[in-house]
Amino acid sequence: GATIGILGGGQLGRMLSVAASRLGYRTHIYEPGAAPAGDVAHRVTNAPYEDEAALRAFAGSVDVITYEFENVPTAALDLLESIRPIRPNRRALAVSQDRLTEKDFLTGIGLTTAPYRNVETEADLPAALAELGAPAILKTRRMGYDGKGQIRFKDADSRDWTGAPSVLEGFVDFSAEISVIVARGADGQVAAFDPGLNVHREGILRTTTVPSGLPQALLTDAVLMAARIVNALDYVGVMGVELFVTPGGLIVNEIAPRVHNSGHWTQAGCAVDQFEQHIRAVAGLPLGDGQRYADVEMENLIGEDMDRVPELLRAPRVQVHLYGKGEARPGRKMGHVNRLL
Ligand code: ATP
Ligand code: MG
Ligand code: MG
Repeated sequence: GATIGILGGGQLGRMLSVAASRLGYRTHIYEPGAAPAGDVAHRVTNAPYEDEAALRAFAGSVDVITYEFENVPTAALDLLESIRPIRPNRRALAVSQDRLTEKDFLTGIGLTTAPYRNVETEADLPAALAELGAPAILKTRRMGYDGKGQIRFKDADSRDWTGAPSVLEGFVDFSAEISVIVARGADGQVAAFDPGLNVHREGILRTTTVPSGLPQALLTDAVLMAARIVNALDYVGVMGVELFVTPGGLIVNEIAPRVHNSGHWTQAGCAVDQFEQHIRAVAGLPLGDGQRYADVEMENLIGEDMDRVPELLRAPRVQVHLYGKGEARPGRKMGHVNRLL
C-alpha cells in the first residue's frame, strides 16, 4: 500500500497515523524531538530539519507528504518538495507560519480580522499602541501556540516586549469563540464539520462543545468564510479556522493548516472524523461523511487533569484519548475526552 509521510510526531501526528492505518496506508513520521506518534507509526525518522540526507531518505520512502506542525523550516520544505508533493501546499504553510502574512492574506480576501499592526522591532511598539489603543495583545509573528509568546497590554503606556518580530492586535470584545474544521479534497470538493464552541483558559483550549447553541445563520457564515479561505489557497487537507463572535459579525482569529484540537470531538460525533478526513484528502480519496450525529463535549486533559483519568475511564458515554506522553507538566496537553451529551 501507499505510505503517507507526516512532518511532526506529536499527538496530531499520532491520531493521523491511526486514521491512515485504518484506511490501509502506512505512515512514516519525521520528528526532530520526542514523538508520541512514534509508537503507532510504521516508521519514524528522528532527525533535525537540517539533516539533508535524512530528509531525502524520508521523502523517497513516502508517496505524499503532509504535516501536523506548521513551523517546518523553508529549506527543509524546498528539499522535500523537490522529491514528493506536499499537501496542504506550500502557500498555505507560508501564509500561516507568520501571523502578519496570515492577517494580510485574510483581509486581502475580504475577511475581517482584529485590527493589527506590524511590530517588527521594539521601536515600533509605541506608535502601534498609540494607533490601536489599549487593551491590545502583542503576539510573536512566528512559532506561538497555546497563548505562548503573547503579552496583553491593559494600557497604552505598557512597554513589555516579546523579544521577536510581532504583531499588535486590538483586543476583540467577543461574546463567543468558535472554530470551523473545514476540509478540501484534491478535486476541489469542500466539506465542513459543525462549528464548535470553544472555551479557553490561560490561552489554552479547555473545551469544545457541539452543537454550539449559536444561531444557524451565523454558523453558516462561519462555514462560508472557511470555504473561502481553503478555496483561495487551493488547499488540500483539513484546516482549523478560529473565529470570534462579536455584535458586529464574525472575526477570524487565526487559521491552522492542519487538523486542529477543536476538531477532536469529531472522533465521537461523526462517521468520519477530522483525522480520516485529512488522510482522505491528502491521499486523493473522496471526502467522507462528516455530518454530526451526536452532541459532544471535548475536554482537554492538561497537566494535573491526568489525575482524573481513573475516574474518567469508569464514566459512561466518555471516550478517553491518551497521547502516551511521559511527564504531565503544567500546561502540557496529555490527552482529551469526548463526552457524549
Ligand atoms: P493556539 O494554541 O490556538 O494556536 P495561539 O497561541 O496561536 O493559540 P491565539 O489563538 O492567537 O493563540 O490566542 C489564544 C486565545 O487568546 C484566543 O483563543 C482568545 O481567547 C484570546 N485572544 C487572542 N487574540 C485576541 C484578541 N485580539 N482579542 C481578544 N482575545 C484574543
Ligand atoms: Mg495559533
Ligand atoms: Mg488559537
